[in-house]
Amino acid sequence: MSTVTDKPNKETPPPHDDHSPVREIDWQDFRDHLATADKLGHRQWVYAKKPSGKWTQRRTALAVLLIGIMFAGPFIHINGNPLLMMNIVERRFSILGQLFWPQDAVIFAVAMLTFLTGIILFTTAFGRLWCGWTCPQTVMMEMVFRKIEYLIEGDALAQRALAQSPWNARKLWKKGLKLGIFFALSFIIGNTLLAYIIGSDALLKIITDPPSQHIVGLIFMLMFTLLFFAIFARFREQACTFICPYGRLQSAMLDENSVVVAYDNKRGERRDRLHRDQTALQRSAAGAGDCIDCHQCVAVCPTGIDIRNGLQMECVHCTACVDACDSVMRKVGRPEGLIRYASLNSIEKREPIRFTARMALYSVVLFGLISLFMALVLTRPAVEAIFLRAPGALFQATGNGKIENLYTLKLVNKTMKDLPVELKLENVSGTLQVMGQQNLVVPAAKLIQTSVLIELDQTKLTGATTKLKVGVYSGGKLLQRVNTVFVGPRNTATP
Ligand code: SF4
Ligand code: SF4
Repeated sequence: MSTVTDKPNKETPPPHDDHSPVREIDWQDFRDHLATADKLGHRQWVYAKKPSGKWTQRRTALAVLLIGIMFAGPFIHINGNPLLMMNIVERRFSILGQLFWPQDAVIFAVAMLTFLTGIILFTTAFGRLWCGWTCPQTVMMEMVFRKIEYLIEGDALAQRALAQSPWNARKLWKKGLKLGIFFALSFIIGNTLLAYIIGSDALLKIITDPPSQHIVGLIFMLMFTLLFFAIFARFREQACTFICPYGRLQSAMLDENSVVVAYDNKRGERRDRLHRDQTALQRSAAGAGDCIDCHQCVAVCPTGIDIRNGLQMECVHCTACVDACDSVMRKVGRPEGLIRYASLNSIEKREPIRFTARMALYSVVLFGLISLFMALVLTRPAVEAIFLRAPGALFQATGNGKIENLYTLKLVNKTMKDLPVELKLENVSGTLQVMGQQNLVVPAAKLIQTSVLIELDQTKLTGATTKLKVGVYSGGKLLQRVNTVFVGPRNTATP
């Protein structure tokens, strides 16, 4: 992806204010090292200034909604199933109240393809909108943990001063209070994640039962808590830069028509400090652009980068720099939007933002995949039957001209109701007996396994193997028809 400003002004590096919360940017090699690490690889802590403005307000409103859904998610049930559950342990999954089993592997594969195509389309069109607005990592970091940090330690300058001050009672209190709250929040987030994996009922059992009954569950609770505590207290923006593959893939997905948070270098350059008593006309006559080089966009950036250097891997499109720059533009009497949502072409060539052929192609593929996914889900049988010949068993002649075969039957009930099930031979007359059961009932959301004995008259056989169709019925309604084979003696005459 090309950048908005590929060649920073190397001759005139901006003067740096030593009292600024912003770490000095190395203008010579900003692409060769991370903004949050020095040349030796040591971490450079980001003290991001508190952002404010219309984009921050919009993101806050959305974050409140998303955080509500995220924490309520495991406790919301549709048709008795969780809104979202990824029970890897029991291999049961629930999406929007629909239960999925390992037998639904095809649906899963289509769902994953749909998800990936959606991400590619979304990123191609709107850049990293997901990262800045909806990613749980950014939402929790910027809208919860960082806001608590501002409340306890103050804005960026106060945070930096506190970090550099010697340890005393005040610093111990502030750091202890902050980390205590962070740990409590991490515990809640960890438990929520656990509820998404094992279900809210299982989580409540871990909480209410004696600890000795759920040692493994408690270990996972502690592990998730420590993991989130480490991420939000220490790792922070590094999770987006080093770990998340999506951020690293963006350069392959974006093009010059993608809408990203971008600095309008055509309008902003040549950047120059605001001079007292200089009119806008004089400023423009002197060749200066609208950027007054105040570094406010850098000061608020939670990833520590300078958006004026162009699109960078670290940028999570959080819009904090948009708000900061808009506020500066209002103060200096210039139009807002020096930093804004824009495509590279809209800045460089002043073209309108376009829906490109590439986006159209991805949309068609996405629409096809969504249709396929919906069709698979809607036509999915309520009961999945797996009917296999019992391993190692051949056939048995009963002595009265009949042959018996033994089968293993697995039935998965994908509904939240107990289902009575009947089995019928569909293409040949014979007897079918479920071993040890008068009435076969599959409990709600459960898998059962049983044995089935089929007996056919030898005259009905079509050879050493005879094709069988077995119908699975519930309440007289055909749920599924399974195919299998019936094995008989080799010398059975073929009619
Ligand atoms: S906030 Fe706006 S005016 Fe200030 S340095 Fe950034 S781009 Fe330039
Ligand atoms: S450059 Fe702007 S949009 Fe990107 S992460 Fe920094 S503040 Fe957020």
